[in-house]
Amino acid sequence: MNKIVMVDLQSQYFRIKSEVDAAIQSVLNATNFIQGPEVKEFTDALKTYVDAEAVIPCANGTDALQIAMMALDLKPGDEVILPVHTYVATAEVIALLQLKPVFVDVFEDTFNINHAQIESRITARTKAIVPVHLYGQCADMEPILSVARKFNLHVIEDAAQALGAAYTFGDGSVKQAGTMGVVGTTSFFPSKNLGCYGDGGAIFAREPGMAEKLHMIANHGQRVKYHHDIIGVNSRLDTLQAAILKVKIKYLKEYTSRRNQVADFYDQCLSDLKQVNIPKRAINSTHVFHQYTLRVERRDELKIFLEQRGIPTMIYYPVPLHFQKAYAQPGYGEGAFPVSEGLSRTVISLPIHTEMNEEQLTYICSAIKEFYQ
Ligand SMILES: *Cc1c(COP(=O)(O)O)cnc(C)c1O
Repeated sequence: MNKIVMVDLQSQYFRIKSEVDAAIQSVLNATNFIQGPEVKEFTDALKTYVDAEAVIPCANGTDALQIAMMALDLKPGDEVILPVHTYVATAEVIALLQLKPVFVDVFEDTFNINHAQIESRITARTKAIVPVHLYGQCADMEPILSVARKFNLHVIEDAAQALGAAYTFGDGSVKQAGTMGVVGTTSFFPSKNLGCYGDGGAIFAREPGMAEKLHMIANHGQRVKYHHDIIGVNSRLDTLQAAILKVKIKYLKEYTSRRNQVADFYDQCLSDLKQVNIPKRAINSTHVFHQYTLRVERRDELKIFLEQRGIPTMIYYPVPLHFQKAYAQPGYGEGAFPVSEGLSRTVISLPIHTEMNEEQLTYICSAIKEFYQ
């Protein structure tokens, strides 16, 4: 049996090596390392993939969030609502811009923001909501967009983990993760579902004016070179990464279906274990399974048991944001967000990637069953 890893980027690369190598060589030959033609070619392919009005490439998913926040013209002290059970980047950019992160708990079964609790956190200073489509399925966007409309708030979607997930609204219309709010962001970090070979990110926008502003902010606030109308940053997707992504996006549908096959396999083998809760599939979102995350009894013991059998696992995330030193706030003590606090003690993510085989999956499932028997 091949060694089990959380994400097998190497085998994935070897399957498309000739295409990727040729794409890289072509950039090297042209030496168009910044803003080469592949950047626009990839961005266009991504735009078609998610059916966005506009796609703005940038240097990573954290920058994407920061640029999105900067485009909203918020003032220091303005409040931004986000789930407390998420990756730190979501809160980090808010705090960095001197805005105030206001946390909301999540649903225990889908791990996504509990929209029913948003309204009680809204104050006169609240300006935006950042739903995070965690582990690969969309937060429940319809009620989130509706509370945002009611209080005139911006919605920025963090779709770093959910590129390709589709959400179905009550009227039957379907939209992709990242294209439902005024701005959406994603990441091409190597282990993300569409990963490059370094850092990369992108921003989705609905309105042409917003798209232009995001473009400007990502490029030193300039529309015309050396004419800086607004304060921006330097955040580019480099040509080499774009060339690699242009190859890989052709396989993204196949990658998503492979991840779903792995998830289905786990679901089937593990659903009858009473100490294990398999991840709930939201009714109105497809799942792209960036992570396959269980809630289990005796989590830390299970982790060690699996490790001893050559099975790596990860805890996303071991400390909820309100317990992080950098994001602690008065009123955010023990028990402030009971669901997220519980999840930090019970979640465990199993290996899931595009290269897993049945032998590995069977081995992992038997080990988990052995632990609980
Ligand atoms: C990965 C990730 C980011 C940040 O992306 P980077 O490209 O690593 O900067 C932001 N939010 C979430 C939820 C993520 O998983």
